[in-house]
Amino acid sequence: MFRFTIFKVPVQVEPWFWLVMAFIGGGMNALSSNSIAAYTGVLLFMMAGFISVLGHELGHALTGWKFGGGRVWIKLWAFGGLAYQEGARLNRRNRCAMILAGPGVGLLMAVISILVLFVIFPAPEAILRMKIYLAYTMVPHADMLTIFPDDRPIYGFINAMIWVNLWWSILNLVPVFPLDGGQFMDQFVKSRKKMHMISMAACGVVILIMLSLNMTMGLLFFAYFAYINYNGYREARY
Ligand SMILES: [Zn+2]
Repeated sequence: MFRFTIFKVPVQVEPWFWLVMAFIGGGMNALSSNSIAAYTGVLLFMMAGFISVLGHELGHALTGWKFGGGRVWIKLWAFGGLAYQEGARLNRRNRCAMILAGPGVGLLMAVISILVLFVIFPAPEAILRMKIYLAYTMVPHADMLTIFPDDRPIYGFINAMIWVNLWWSILNLVPVFPLDGGQFMDQFVKSRKKMHMISMAACGVVILIMLSLNMTMGLLFFAYFAYINYNGYREARY
């Protein structure tokens, strides 16, 4: 377990976090190709994933602390991050601000990363790179070299920052409990059964979109969320 404190917020990072980040960042592919560029790409993705998830959780933790006080801390584990708060007093408006601050920080980091792209490259190349970086899979460095012969592995970091922050923030805003969008929706829907039903319907829409785009990994996550909400629906009393 790796621990540190940032902006007075204690953070714990479990070993599983790095393993999952390495896997999403193309770890298996790197092991089979065994090239330095592929390993560098995985490491840069892990760094970008760490900064992105930490930034997202700091958005929740610092906003929650500012409005509600108490004690806040962050844990990065297998499936991303969690921001905890104990002994806080938050009204609905402040709780909504705290929920939205996570994806808000993510989207802000995506915009900053896109701006960096426009600072480094002339506009036509920056636009082309942005389109390639936003494609639903990460483009391996070897393939980037065929499109941009002077591509440097470090650009993979900007690639990952844009891809992770944009897509993960958008997916987090889908009204599926327990994602941020689902927690936000939960502030306004009184009936538990209705809340889980909206979540299941939203899962269905996301799963259909992911099926059509062949996004296997995301599909598994949303199938799991659908299962959680189905159980929640059955157990809810009202
Ligand atoms: Zn969040």
